Order: sequence, then C-alpha cells, then structure tokens
Amino acid sequence: MPKIVIDELRCKGCALCTIACPRELLQMSEEMNRQGYFPAAMAEGKMKECTSCTLCARICPDVAIAVWREVEEQTKLEAAGE
Ligand code: SF4
Ligand code: SF4
Repeated sequence: MPKIVIDELRCKGCALCTIACPRELLQMSEEMNRQGYFPAAMAEGKMKECTSCTLCARICPDVAIAVWREVEEQTKLEAAGE
C-alpha cells in the first residue's frame, strides 16, 4: 500500500510539500495536470523511504495529500482490550 497519495487534481503545484519533507522524497512532476499545474509526486522508487510523518500533508494548503500508516496487529489487539 502506498504511504501517501497525492490528489493531482487538487494540487496547485506550490511545491511546499517538497520543502517540508525531511527526507526530500517529493518532487514536482514534469507532466501538467488538467488545471495547468505541475503537481507534486513521490520520487521514483522512494515510497518505501516514507515514514508517514504527515508533514507534507499538514503543510499542503489544498489538502491534496493523504498519508497512510500501517497499524501493527498488536496495537489493534490492545485497542480491543485483548
Ligand atoms: S509523510 Fe513525511 S516522509 Fe512521507 S513524503 Fe510526507 S513528509 Fe515525506
Ligand atoms: S503542498 Fe499541496 S498543492 Fe502544494 S505542491 Fe504539494 S501537494 Fe501540491
């Protein structure tokens, strides 16, 4: 599962997320979206280096980035009181 998903249609190409990512995993696409912006994208082959820290999503003014975290099975069991 990807750790982040960037909604290209919401992205206005401001590049703030590329600055915010502490691992420098995000870059601007060379392909224009339908609104005429160059959207942000995960660099090729870098998804596995993402820590799901959410900094990119929190700085995005267009709420274009969703971040996913894997939940450990033990955590789920603890939440269920088992
Ligand atoms: S979640 Fe964190 S590590 Fe992953 S792309 Fe966003 S800022 Fe970078
Ligand atoms: S911060 Fe949001 S709007 Fe700006 S480039 Fe990144 S995804 Fe696009």
